[in-house]
Amino acid sequence: MDLGLRDNCVVVTGGSSGIGLAAVRNFLKEGANVALCARGRERLTAVKKTLVDEFGADRVFSKAFSVLDKGEVDAFSEDVKARFGGCDVLVTNAGQGRVSTYATTSDDDWREELELKFFSQLNPIRSFEGMLRRSTNGAIVAVNSLLAYQPEPHMVCTAAARSGVQNLLKSLATELAPDIRVNSILLGLVDSQQWQRRFYARENKSQSREDWFADLAAKKNIPLGRLGDPGEPARAIVFLGSKASSYTTGAHLEISGGVSRFA
Ligand code: NDP
Repeated sequence: MDLGLRDNCVVVTGGSSGIGLAAVRNFLKEGANVALCARGRERLTAVKKTLVDEFGADRVFSKAFSVLDKGEVDAFSEDVKARFGGCDVLVTNAGQGRVSTYATTSDDDWREELELKFFSQLNPIRSFEGMLRRSTNGAIVAVNSLLAYQPEPHMVCTAAARSGVQNLLKSLATELAPDIRVNSILLGLVDSQQWQRRFYARENKSQSREDWFADLAAKKNIPLGRLGDPGEPARAIVFLGSKASSYTTGAHLEISGGVSRFA
């Protein structure tokens, strides 16, 4: 199947690790040019070097900043325009989860989490909207979590914020149509940096990586019996960003190994 991504410009926020990096690689393999950002300059520089070695310097642009800094996001969009002439696909992936219950989430934590979840979407969408509208394949793919529909008691604040984001995306799918399609993926548990950190911080240090992740999958009742690999959501992101999904907007695709309890 031709995904029609050759010579498109794809922007991936949070592209230096995990799902974002896997998506960057897949878009490059499909012939797109890619611009990626993340806060950590050192890792981003190292990642960019490997991408340039593999795909060529002309096709990769990167910049270190936080997507919560509106001025930086605007400047990035200008850089992307100058470098690639426009933007066809925006992947809003940057972020992280917050482990906290209602009791342990302070008002400041709430504000911080709501800002991260909403403005990691709103800032890039506002900055790239003009270019996306001018594209013949304008598409936004947002990375979100199953928590949006299925809250967990230990992630109360993140879950509420993710639910609001899902609602926002549905509105945007209407308001930005027909120029820009807006879709999302809903993740269960995907083995990326955040789970690596939790593995290294495990109580029983003698437990192997394989056993620790197998126990986690069993504890979470994942029907497919394992966590996802970053490449699995990345393939869904590429599909939703491509012309292969040209009649799909306002939709979400669940990438969770079957863990959802809602219809
Ligand atoms: P990783 O931690 O591996 O990757 C996150 C990426 O986002 C990194 O490149 C990180 O780089 C970047 N990032 C984080 N905050 C910002 C910011 N403010 N501005 C710019 N870049 C930022 O995690 P995943 O690949 O797992 O996560 C990708 C997305 O999926 C995240 O939004 C996460 O919340 C979500 N998700 C993941 C789940 C999972 O099981 N893995 C489950 C549900 C949702 P840097 O730190 O250098 O900025």
